[in-house]
Amino acid sequence: MKKHVVVIGSGPGGYVAAIRLSQLGADVTVIEKENIGGICLNEGCIPSKALIEAGHFYQKTQSRNPYGVKTENVTLNFSDTQRWKDKRIVYKLTRGIEMLLQKHSINIIRGQATFKDNNTIVVGDDELSFDACVISTGSSPILLKNIEMSDSVVDSKGALNFTEVPNSLIVVGGGYIGGELASAYTNLGSNVTIVEAADDILVNFDEEMVALVKKNFRSRKTKIMTNTYVKGVKENKNSLEITLESNGEESTLMADKVLLAIGRRPNSQSLNLENTTIKVDEKGFILTNEFGQTANEKVYAIGDVIHGLALAHKASYEAKLVADNIINDAKRNIRKENIVAIAFTDPEAASVGIELKDVTDNHSVKTFDYAANGRSLTMDESSGFIRLISLDNVLVGAQIVGHNASELIAECALAIENKLTLKQIVETIHAHPTQNEMIMDVVEDMLGYPIHG
Ligand SMILES: Cc1cc2nc3c(=O)[nH]c(=O)nc-3n(C[C@H](O)[C@H](O)[C@H](O)COP(=O)(O)OP(=O)(O)OC[C@H]3O[C@@H](n4cnc5c(N)ncnc54)[C@H](O)[C@@H]3O)c2cc1C
Repeated sequence: MKKHVVVIGSGPGGYVAAIRLSQLGADVTVIEKENIGGICLNEGCIPSKALIEAGHFYQKTQSRNPYGVKTENVTLNFSDTQRWKDKRIVYKLTRGIEMLLQKHSINIIRGQATFKDNNTIVVGDDELSFDACVISTGSSPILLKNIEMSDSVVDSKGALNFTEVPNSLIVVGGGYIGGELASAYTNLGSNVTIVEAADDILVNFDEEMVALVKKNFRSRKTKIMTNTYVKGVKENKNSLEITLESNGEESTLMADKVLLAIGRRPNSQSLNLENTTIKVDEKGFILTNEFGQTANEKVYAIGDVIHGLALAHKASYEAKLVADNIINDAKRNIRKENIVAIAFTDPEAASVGIELKDVTDNHSVKTFDYAANGRSLTMDESSGFIRLISLDNVLVGAQIVGHNASELIAECALAIENKLTLKQIVETIHAHPTQNEMIMDVVEDMLGYPIHG
């Protein structure tokens, strides 16, 4: 008899769990209350990267380039940009996921799932029983009580769907979502101000990395106000008046739009978990053991709704492991140490494994500048660095800031995850000319025989 597994949510946690469960022989039902693909495909990772790329392209045409290419009077038709994002990317990918679910004979129910008790899920008038359940309901933006949302005061979804590039935009929150959208709209031509309550932006990355991102923001006239709180937003007829407080002093800024990006909270409240034995913490994160099981051992939880980095690849990784745990009783530990974190800002910042703050006298730390890499120069991308950290001749940490950091970090993640020795890394031929050669350069430096050092 096939196990019947119900998956709640169809984001990168839910749809991946559903497909893997089906591949392993389960009879799977997915319940989704909004759009197949979840936040990631519809209003997160993918649409944000589309606007970021459009911004890069537009920005390149607006400033002098070294290639001898003249780009005078280039204009931006933002409704075309939005149409490209929605139809050619988001629709295509979400439709693709729906087809994959169908291909795997996964039953899709549209509606909001709630728990009646430990063994029963309710969707509308229907009740479902299950052999196992995976909760992958994701997260929602945190809002502020004193700030009313509107067409002009928006969360990240609203900012991704602006119909025009705002002349002026205040981004409240300098985390990776605020930082990425600030970069995108700066490049698309907005006057952007980032307002951050902490004493720096992108606090998950170290100072040296963030310094390059801030330098770029400053060069583009993007203001960054740290240690600053938003007290309120007043909507006038044609503009917004934002009251700020910093070190006890109040000030006012005017802007066309305000984006609130101060963090996200887990979507656990609407599940009626109080009807079950499933436990949540004071912030609403569903508590699980290392195998992804909640206090009801038939019910698992993954992705943004549980603790850990709120990232799509973490959700998908956990999805595959809990599928194995459910079907094969595999007891795979979903708690992963080395998860790549990326901010797709300008320049990109990416990190995996041990960070600079964790380094001891036993670690070796070496860096290599983009400016000394041939491929980076041919791309006119000479600002950035790769920093590697090793212990006992094994790579244990990597931080990259610069063009393509999001791609380059993958080689480091693979090496760290598989405990590759420095010798194994340098004995892997790195193609020329590539930015990946910088990784080989740093490792050669660590081994004491740098060719380009
Ligand atoms: C602007 C932005 C940019 C981002 N960029 C990146 C990035 O570049 N890289 C990255 O790794 N991450 C990024 N993220 C984070 C990423 O989107 C999330 O980590 C990821 O989507 C989490 O996946 P999930 O499956 O846990 O939940 P989600 O993708 O949030 O999916 C949850 C789904 O569950 C559904 N649901 C919720 N409750 C119920 C219910 N009771 N019944 C039925 N359905 C329900 C929701 O409608 C939703 O479709 C970004 C997020 C944002 C907002």
